[in-house]
Amino acid sequence: MANTRTPANDVRSAWVAPRRGRACVTQMYEARKGVITEEMTFVAKRERLAPELVRAEVARGRMIIPANINHVELEPMAIGIASSCKVNANIGNSALGSTLEEEVAKLDICLKYGADSVMDLSTGKRIREVREALLRASPVPIGTVPIYEAIERVKEPLDLTWHDFLDVIEAQAKQGVDYMTLHAGVLWELIPLTKDRLTGIVSRGGSLMAQWMMYHGKQNPLYAHFDDVLDVCARYDVAISLGDGLRPGCLADASDAAQFGELRVLGELTKRAWERDVQVMIEGPGHVPMDQIEDNVKKQMEWCHEAPFYVLGPLVTDVGAGYDHITSAIGAAMAGWYGTAMLCYVTPKEHLGLPNADDVRNGLIAYKIAAHAADVARHRKGARERDDQLSRARYRFDWNEQFRLSLDPERAREFHDATLDHEHFKTAEFCSMCGPKFCSMRISHDVEKLAAAGTPTPTALLSTEQREGGAGCITESGSGVVQLARPEREPPPPAE
Ligand code: SF4
Repeated sequence: MANTRTPANDVRSAWVAPRRGRACVTQMYEARKGVITEEMTFVAKRERLAPELVRAEVARGRMIIPANINHVELEPMAIGIASSCKVNANIGNSALGSTLEEEVAKLDICLKYGADSVMDLSTGKRIREVREALLRASPVPIGTVPIYEAIERVKEPLDLTWHDFLDVIEAQAKQGVDYMTLHAGVLWELIPLTKDRLTGIVSRGGSLMAQWMMYHGKQNPLYAHFDDVLDVCARYDVAISLGDGLRPGCLADASDAAQFGELRVLGELTKRAWERDVQVMIEGPGHVPMDQIEDNVKKQMEWCHEAPFYVLGPLVTDVGAGYDHITSAIGAAMAGWYGTAMLCYVTPKEHLGLPNADDVRNGLIAYKIAAHAADVARHRKGARERDDQLSRARYRFDWNEQFRLSLDPERAREFHDATLDHEHFKTAEFCSMCGPKFCSMRISHDVEKLAAAGTPTPTALLSTEQREGGAGCITESGSGVVQLARPEREPPPPAE
């Protein structure tokens, strides 16, 4: 399959030109100097926030704008509690499947269904070329996990040296990667805490780091050389996504000493990054029972100084294989409601295989629902407008408008038309769910018409009764019309 996609527009070349060549070009650095960058203004418009609020949040570290100066095709977005809840979609090839063209096609699907960010998790062939194609085609931030490419470059994972690893980080930064997952908090001393776990270390990056440390008997090089990483990130404005390499891989391991031990380290690293004006977000679990989600979010906010939280799921049960976009979207909606800033989608193929295009669509829509539900629950500005518009269209039987406002218009149309496909039914006052006779919304329209025609309504009668001091109650008459049963009244007292 040939890649016929047109490249994304150049949005930022002129914006970043004056910043080039400086030792620190980050949005955080500018924000702390009091500068409102073009990226901040762009974000403020998108989010319906004041530009000064965006600047203040970025300066404080509670919001990040992942925007590498070499990703000029980027249309900036923000991740933080003050902005809408975001959704990330993971794509990328593996040694067992997918081509460059298929990955670019997956990016198109992600963009079509509203991904706010995309992570290229390629571990197979042509990692650099896949990433280049994605960056040049993507108006959304692209994130990576550099250890995957670092491992792919060496014959054996244990052969990896720190210099090889840093080379990969620098090369990806130069290419334009907007944020990188770095498992810098998986410390040597935390690894024994995983020994009694049901599923050990389930993060790919976390398990590779642990294996390297155990074999070489050395501390995590990302932690030991964190300042070198910060130099690179400051030079290109790469946001660090501090990875949760010790996240729980099952409910039994949730909220254990290893997970929370690592979270404490991530808090320490957050402060170190902020001292160098490097933007940071914190990755979170994983598999967490519903009753522990709020506590997980609160601990992250407290221990990591309110740096944006970015969670994978979490899955709220382990038994949903084949449906883990649902088990995890439940947890994601809750996490978003409690204040998580970005949700990393999970597809139905989770734990089972490499997702295809249809899995990407299903996972993404599940997460768009979760993020939107969180925005509504947090009363974010304008969050419910689309719901209300769709509900109005639904109530007036404007089917085409209902489809248009749905998160997946094609799926909504397809399901409707499966039983009523003629154009005539696009204005029909029913669908095949209840049929014309039992369509409650159509009946409700009739009730409104009766009310408009002056027919006494229970409400009107009740209010009359109440005005007169009577209690009143509602019954149905033989004809099916709702009538007010008037209570027996005390006879007036006899005249003196
Ligand atoms: S038939 Fe039932 S499901 Fe369909 S529009 Fe009417 S009330 Fe809604």
